Formats: sequence, C-alpha cells, structure tokens
Amino acid sequence: MIEENLQRINKDLPPQTRLIAVSKTKPVEMLQEAYDAGQRLFGENKALEMRDKHEALPKDIEWHFIGHLQTNKVKYIAPFVRMIHSIDSLPLLQAVEKEAAKHGRCIDCLLQFHIATEETKFGLDLQEARRLLESAEYKAMQHVRICGVMGMATNTDDMGLVRREFATLHDIFGTLKRDFFSGSEAFSEISMGMSHDYRIAAEEGSTLVRVGSSIFGARDYGTPVNDV
Ligand SMILES: *Cc1c(COP(=O)(O)O)cnc(C)c1O
Repeated sequence: MIEENLQRINKDLPPQTRLIAVSKTKPVEMLQEAYDAGQRLFGENKALEMRDKHEALPKDIEWHFIGHLQTNKVKYIAPFVRMIHSIDSLPLLQAVEKEAAKHGRCIDCLLQFHIATEETKFGLDLQEARRLLESAEYKAMQHVRICGVMGMATNTDDMGLVRREFATLHDIFGTLKRDFFSGSEAFSEISMGMSHDYRIAAEEGSTLVRVGSSIFGARDYGTPVNDV
C-alpha cells in the first residue's frame, strides 16, 4: 500500500515540488518499505526518534526535521540532519549554529512562519523574521544556511482559506528573497502542504510537501492505511 500511495501522490505533484514522507510515530519497517519504493526524503518531529531511525536505516536518506525543536535537543540530530524546517527563534538558530560547528557541518534551515488563523501553531511573523535576519548574531553565523520558509495552514475544510494562507507564505518568501537573499541561490524552498492540502500547496508554489497519513495511514489506530 505504501508504494501505491507514494506513486499516487508523486503523480499529483509538479516537477518542482518534492515529497517528504512524514514518518513520525511509524516503525522503521514502514520507512524501509517506503525506501524500497524509492522514497529518500523523510520527515520526523521528535529529535530522539529521528536519531534512532537514522541509525537503523540506509544512510542515503535525507532527514528533514519538521516539528517544534527545543534548543537542548538539537545535539541529537546535528550530525546528520539534512534540513531543519522549524526555526522560529534566534536562540534556536544559535543552538543549531553551535551544534553544527561541533561537527564541522553547515545545516540548511527554514524559517517557520505562523500563517494559520489558529492560535496554537508555532512560527514567526515577518517583523520577527526581519529582526532575526538583521541581528549581528545571525550575520556572524557560519554553520547554518537559511534556504527558505515553512508554514502550516489552518486545519479546516475551508480550502479557500488554506489557499490564501499558502499564498501569504509565498509572498513572505518573495519579500525575504528580495530584501535579504537576492544573491542566494540556496534560498529557494517553500515547505507547505500536508496530506489534506498538498495539491493546493503545490499549486501555490510549494517546493516541499510534508505528507504523512496519506502515505503511511492515520497515526491513531483503527483506520485503514489507504484512508485519505
Ligand atoms: C505530522 C506533520 C505533517 C504531516 O501530516 P499529515 O496530515 O499526516 O500529512 C506535516 N507537517 C508537520 C509539521 C507535521 O507535524
């Protein structure tokens, strides 16, 4: 089923949009099944879980950290993580800088923006992002590279609202590109779209969709794997 799900979703995506298989809470056997079907980008939201899965699975997997990250957990993923999508404060970016330096790495990061109307989601607003990018602390960093933006739309059936929120994130990307990253080829990623809204996200310019339950099945028990 996992292979069929991957094929179906990839068929929906335009060439500029890559699929991250969000495998949080799922056993390594299921990740291996996706890997054997050709999937190489995986997303996790817990540092220790990602570390353990990295140890157990093939080393050409690109690990994307997509959840809220505490500064004291960065050390578990710094040796191998491919991209951290959830930078929402200067102290967190400073922690990534420090841990990346210890491993002689430069870690790709995305700034997470609060685009949903819900109160509960993490993320920066444009003014906070500007302050971060203008700070002397950020300008001195040599072991992090900001490659774009990430956001989560409101969890709603109102797909018009979802589309507007994705368009807002695309605008934020354009503004930051113009004001801070016009010379940076690396600043090119817009991480948006999940199981129920990845098609809309792709239409609104997503370069990375993060899809979990449509590939691996619902994370609570009792729902069939192919329930979309
Ligand atoms: C869990 C999660 C996803 C995937 O959600 P699905 O609805 O299962 O596709 C995407 N992004 C983030 C940040 C997540 O935590």
